[in-house]
Amino acid sequence: MSKKKTRATVPFAALTHVGNVRALNEDSLLALPPLYAVADGLGGHQSGEVASALAIEALRDHAPKNPDPIALARAVQTANQAVISGIAKGTGREGMGTTMTAVMVQNGRAVFAQVGDSRAYLLRSRSLTQVTEDHSVVAEMMRAGHLTADEARRHPQRSVITRALGSDPNLSVDTFDITVLRGDRLLLCSDGLTTMVEDSHIQEILASSLDPNHAAEKLIQAALDAGGVDNISVIIIDITEEAGANVAALKVAKKKRPRSKLWLWALLWLALVAAVGVGVYYATMSYVEGRAYISVSEAVGIGAERTIYISRGLPGHILNHNLTFETAATRVDFSLLAPEFQAKLLLTPTYPNFTDATSDLITMVQRSPLYFESAELLLQEGIFETAAGGGQPNLPRESDQTREFDQSDQPDLETLP
Ligand code: MN
Repeated sequence: MSKKKTRATVPFAALTHVGNVRALNEDSLLALPPLYAVADGLGGHQSGEVASALAIEALRDHAPKNPDPIALARAVQTANQAVISGIAKGTGREGMGTTMTAVMVQNGRAVFAQVGDSRAYLLRSRSLTQVTEDHSVVAEMMRAGHLTADEARRHPQRSVITRALGSDPNLSVDTFDITVLRGDRLLLCSDGLTTMVEDSHIQEILASSLDPNHAAEKLIQAALDAGGVDNISVIIIDITEEAGANVAALKVAKKKRPRSKLWLWALLWLALVAAVGVGVYYATMSYVEGRAYISVSEAVGIGAERTIYISRGLPGHILNHNLTFETAATRVDFSLLAPEFQAKLLLTPTYPNFTDATSDLITMVQRSPLYFESAELLLQEGIFETAAGGGQPNLPRESDQTREFDQSDQPDLETLP
């Protein structure tokens, strides 16, 4: 790694701190331009620090010479093997593991490989973006929409990770490949920083301290001030060269084009397919939402009454997706309707819109001989159970209707509110 001629010095800072609570620092760092990495060891005394050190050592020995996402991911997999065999050889303990977030920065390109919840961020034009995605339980809950970023940061299970080096020999490694510009600043850090300090505060510190060492010290101090319950590690890398500044390196990169282009095309295709899918989905849903249907509840037992409902949407499901948006119970007495109307309603008729469905039901009431006497009163008071004084139907909220209406045929909409 040292055969290369000395490059223009890359301003970077790498700092780690045991924190206020832990007796031992289980994080390990690597800052060997153009390669940088943070590993956060897990497993407690005489395990975590062994796992993170083994992983960093293996990464250092197997990292590619130039930024290449596949080669870097392969080096992380080698590091994974090193931790696994460390357990087998008794270097560390059973159950030890480590996160790994690595980056190679060269010629306007930053290539990341990541497993676990140590993060990489990009500060560009004073604004901060998280590059990596945490492999953690709370991150998955966040992605599913069950937690906000702030709730995730305070969640008791916030340090439970779903992927780490040291257990699965077929570990999958995330890679990210971004173009970096002069003036950009990269941050790698362990969760000891991100669970203590909000992104907005991290951004403020990174944007206000020119010297990467000052910025790193301030970040660690902020985590300590906020409690410092975990080990805190921070690597800051400042980008000082323009993309493509090094012509020789550019030629090397060109040779590798076919493979990376294939990746790009695959990604573009995936993005296109996803975009079309999302478009079709929303178009379908807005069409469905405009439609309406009338349904009748089951009559359970002799003399049981059937309730007639008018719903926005269409009956049934598509791919497990309930197509009913809102449902209103009516006060129309099914048993008083003429037999042909009863038969029609039992077939769950659909309509272009809610108004048409409502007026068709009103027509049925008016044309049913048995209903005739009381039809006027019913229509005056409004046909909907929840309507007040014959006004607009007061549709129940979606969460109310799914409970009342969907007992028989739509059980799978019972998601969390
Ligand atoms: Mn940690």
